[in-house]
Amino acid sequence: MSDIEQTLSIIKPDAVERNLQDQIKNEFKNNGFEIIKEKKIHISKEEAEKFYKVHVSKPFYNDLCNYLSSGPIVVMNLQRDNAILENRKLMGATNPKDAEEGTLRKKYGLSIDKNSVHGSDSVENAKIELDFFFKD
Ligand code: UDP
Ligand code: MG
Repeated sequence: MSDIEQTLSIIKPDAVERNLQDQIKNEFKNNGFEIIKEKKIHISKEEAEKFYKVHVSKPFYNDLCNYLSSGPIVVMNLQRDNAILENRKLMGATNPKDAEEGTLRKKYGLSIDKNSVHGSDSVENAKIELDFFFKD
């Protein structure tokens, strides 16, 4: 069984800075994802803190929020069957050093913090994260 799902993907500042957004968008398209919505934005530290509030108690929270607000990002609503899990598989492990060959983080990630892409991790969080960036 497979369900058509939507998930939030972010091309993070390290990848936008290296002008990788078209290449990464093609990776999604070549892996069966449809880019339903997308926008390039530069969020404030306060917005990053709100987006990553699930991590508020983590030691890396402050650096993470500084980083996500450090430069332009591309946020996308991606759709395909099992989009949430399939996107997590395509992204690879959080630390590019641990990510499998062929995954986005293996190919493009620089470090555990500059790991090039974000993807929602559950149906519930996909809804929350899509609303965060795309609710009109
Ligand atoms: N992160 C970090 N240091 C860590 C763990 C995570 O800088 O020790 C960053 C990393 O960029 C990651 C983000 O925090 O993508 C969110 O962490 P999470 O555990 O949710 O990983 P993800 O879901 O992005 O794989
Ligand atoms: Mg996560």
